[in-house]
Amino acid sequence: MKIREISFHKNFKCTASECSENCCHGWQIPINKDDFVRFSNENGVLGLKLSAYSIIGSNYVFNPNSKTCPFRNKDRLCTLQIKKGHDFIPQACRDYPRFYRNYGEFEERYIDLSCLHGAEMFLSEFENMYLNEYEDEAGSKPCGTNDDADFLHALDNTRKMMIQALYEVKDLNALTNTLNHMKRYAELAQEAFINGDTGYLTENPFEAFAFCMNTDTSSEDLRLFPFPAKTLEKLMYTRFYGDRLKTTQNTLYKLCRHYYDKYEHILYAEDKWANMARGLLSKYPYLLRHLAAYLIYYLYQYYFKTYEDYSFRRNILMGIIHMNMVFMLEVIYENEHKSLTSSEKARLISVYNRRAFFSELIMDDMYKCL
Ligand code: SF4
Repeated sequence: MKIREISFHKNFKCTASECSENCCHGWQIPINKDDFVRFSNENGVLGLKLSAYSIIGSNYVFNPNSKTCPFRNKDRLCTLQIKKGHDFIPQACRDYPRFYRNYGEFEERYIDLSCLHGAEMFLSEFENMYLNEYEDEAGSKPCGTNDDADFLHALDNTRKMMIQALYEVKDLNALTNTLNHMKRYAELAQEAFINGDTGYLTENPFEAFAFCMNTDTSSEDLRLFPFPAKTLEKLMYTRFYGDRLKTTQNTLYKLCRHYYDKYEHILYAEDKWANMARGLLSKYPYLLRHLAAYLIYYLYQYYFKTYEDYSFRRNILMGIIHMNMVFMLEVIYENEHKSLTSSEKARLISVYNRRAFFSELIMDDMYKCL
């Protein structure tokens, strides 16, 4: 099968005990059938622990309360891996943060940015990232049932155009225009799909997207970056935040608390928020390119969800929402710490993605805010 792999994929190596946002904490660990069989065959103390530390409900998981995995030791290493080797640990732990999507014709491979080191690699490589293509056996099962190759190629072409347009972004105006053109394209494509106009979706996607890039959308423009303070406030009052964050994701919890306790009333005034946002962008001119690249990476990983759900609008707008949320966290963090280094940015991306990208409920709430 044809593999398309993000250029820094092969260089990834987990930093294990050195990682300050270690992924053995903060989420449930899914156990698949093979893991279950392997663990059930284990005898002795380890066998007892394996059954005691997992639950069988609608899903079989380790760490059901999303605290720290009981198999992590005081040196922040995995005792299952130490005792039984890498092949013994759950499949989810063996794969993470490798992100595979098999679309039938090809498989795409990324490093998920919820991993701190993955986010660091992304920030240091984003100017030169590309998809490396080669033949190999698929590493995952098909992720959907659609086999409409023309539609997949059309999505691929549109994604290339959006990515190209985002790579060319040099300033705030260019970013805002590009986002509005993407939104315009998403709306036209959505309308075409509803009306059964498959020609619009597949026959000439380059032309369709180019048309949107050349359309004056200024009369209908929403402030897509930075979002108005009121939109951010709505997003912060979704299930994105919850009290359990304190024990499951403390870094994100503290940032959210800063928002509610200190910044909410500041950010509520549009002019103050606009000043803070502009201030940060002029202090860190490269930030805009990072944010555009963050959206590019989102499109790489998630735009092809449209192949299954035909939700052009949702899949594009969710990327814009995530980009705005990361930016707001950066504004708050920088105000608090007077610093925003590359590793601090990576940490913000990692904790945000860990929370927002893995819950359809949170994403539903956020999408409704727009
Ligand atoms: S978050 Fe990434 S670097 Fe950190 S422990 Fe997990 S896989 Fe390793």
